[in-house]
Amino acid sequence: MTQQRNYEVIVVGLGAMGSATLFHLARRGVRALGIEQFGPGHTRGSSHGDSRIIRETYFEHPLYVPLVQRAHELWRELEDVSETPLMNITGGLMIGPPGGTVVLGTLRSAREHGLEHEILSPDEVSARFPAFRVAPDLVTVFDPRAGYLDPEACTRAHLAGAVAAGAETRFDERVLDWTANDDRVRVETDSGSYSAEKLVLSAGAWNSRLLHGLELPLVVERQAVFWFDVPSKSHLYEPTAFPIYAHEFKPATICYGFPLLPRGVKASVMHDGRICAEPQDVDREVAEDEVEPLRASLRPILPELAESSVRASTVCLFTNTPDHDFIIDFHPEHPQVLVSSPCSGHGFKFASAIGEAQADLLTTGKARFDLSPFRIDRPSLRQ
Ligand SMILES: Cc1cc2nc3c(=O)[nH]c(=O)nc-3n(C[C@H](O)[C@H](O)[C@H](O)COP(=O)(O)OP(=O)(O)OC[C@H]3O[C@@H](n4cnc5c(N)ncnc54)[C@H](O)[C@@H]3O)c2cc1C
Repeated sequence: MTQQRNYEVIVVGLGAMGSATLFHLARRGVRALGIEQFGPGHTRGSSHGDSRIIRETYFEHPLYVPLVQRAHELWRELEDVSETPLMNITGGLMIGPPGGTVVLGTLRSAREHGLEHEILSPDEVSARFPAFRVAPDLVTVFDPRAGYLDPEACTRAHLAGAVAAGAETRFDERVLDWTANDDRVRVETDSGSYSAEKLVLSAGAWNSRLLHGLELPLVVERQAVFWFDVPSKSHLYEPTAFPIYAHEFKPATICYGFPLLPRGVKASVMHDGRICAEPQDVDREVAEDEVEPLRASLRPILPELAESSVRASTVCLFTNTPDHDFIIDFHPEHPQVLVSSPCSGHGFKFASAIGEAQADLLTTGKARFDLSPFRIDRPSLRQ
């Protein structure tokens, strides 16, 4: 089947970033098409699993704070548009040694941007959030604007809003290739071909295959996440009593987790996964013993949860850059092609703001943020 229709923008991949970009393009009146290789809400990419942390303090780098603040506003707007709850603010505990990445980075971002935060003693942590125990040699910074998003609901809301504003979507259709000449881009899929003025490559873990000659050092990492049965005093794990948390249990190694949600109490260790050559070859089964490193990381702060039985698990994919900063930039040889994603395991919270910024870039050539830290030609991306 050959499609006839021409578009202003084609978005490849309708996960977190693609769905948000399509939404913001459609709301600007742009004739846009989104193409996704799997069905809506699929579990083979990076945006499934019931919950994603959002926090205002940002230990990775203060440069992300304005972006997350804008994302926060846009998630609330999307809740209004979709009449769906998407974000729950529980507060967040950033726990670690006083000189560690999490505590120093959290405080630096809070001070540079004048963010509300509290430094809690171990006794204060247990008094306010009784499921938690913190050793005397650790510091806890409380971020009152942290919480979690429902990623499946966010993506659904962006897609529904995009379609309501006139965008077209095609699911279960894989983009095989694209070509660009001076004024058009042509996209070939397994069931048709389309043409547009501009193209967005937001294919997550599959992006490398579509980058045409751009040898970016992107690494796909398999992450296992677990839902535990709730320990005996279940009220202590409810969202009203249990903030999201990040705990630096070894230098620069973090476990994180969420309160009790319908599937259980979810937790995982960041960046402890196996590197995968190709996303389709990822082992989707989680072995029983994979939970042991997570239990060990939870024991010092959540001793009861650490011994609970595992109720469910899943595999999800990170796409890492060497510096763990994002890429949001035009292809150096094809200025009508925007490369989006590689979010190194911390991108979901920003998707609403990245979608807006990408729509701005595509329609006006400018975004409201300085996106230079996410340039394709930065030194850390040169192999
Ligand atoms: C376990 C885990 C926990 C995380 N926790 C957090 C967190 O707490 N907070 C946070 O902010 N971030 C978190 N992240 C990171 C965040 O979820 C990701 O950065 C974000 O979801 C990436 O979105 P994406 O749109 O780039 O990728 P995806 O959502 O995977 O979307 C890419 C889409 O492109 C499609 N596609 C690929 N190739 C093609 C093709 N050829 N044709 C058509 N379609 C194609 C794919 O099927 C996919 O749907 C976590 C990630 C994981 C895996």
